[in-house]
Amino acid sequence: MKRDDLWDLNEALQHPGKHVAIDLSTELPQEADLDLVQPLEGFLEAVSTGNLLLVTGEFKTRCVLECSRCGAPIEQDITYEMDEQFPVEGIPSVYAQDDYARVVPDEDYPLFEENNLMVEALIRQGLLLNLPMQALCIHGWEGTCPEAGKRGIQMKKESENPHFSDLAQLKALADEEPEA
Ligand SMILES: [Zn+2]
Repeated sequence: MKRDDLWDLNEALQHPGKHVAIDLSTELPQEADLDLVQPLEGFLEAVSTGNLLLVTGEFKTRCVLECSRCGAPIEQDITYEMDEQFPVEGIPSVYAQDDYARVVPDEDYPLFEENNLMVEALIRQGLLLNLPMQALCIHGWEGTCPEAGKRGIQMKKESENPHFSDLAQLKALADEEPEA
């Protein structure tokens, strides 16, 4: 059975150096937590080097986020690029009678069914990684946010307290030190 969200990449995998591309538009129907105002649209390109499958792309959408300070809904444009690499094993069929190139399956984050890329899973992952960590409504952190005031929410930026951010930086440095 052919699924819409599977992209057969044999054309690229069996012909290293050959570029293939698709245009995509999806509402991400399986995503209950994300409120997309516009479909997620963009394109993906793929090319195989022989032992790596390179997948790049660009996407844009518009979604409703929640203000980190007051919880008010905010519509925001999101654009992001994708740049992924997947290891390939086997000899491309263009060079071999009895072999073919295969994407090495990743057991933790399966994004392929054999040589078919699960497109929605990939671009969904890209979207989640590119959502702003802290969305803010037009009132920002400094302005008088009527919503935040109404709810008696008192929150401060970390940078408003220099001691705290210095400590945080020191801690980050300490965490990077290799174990002795
Ligand atoms: Zn707000």
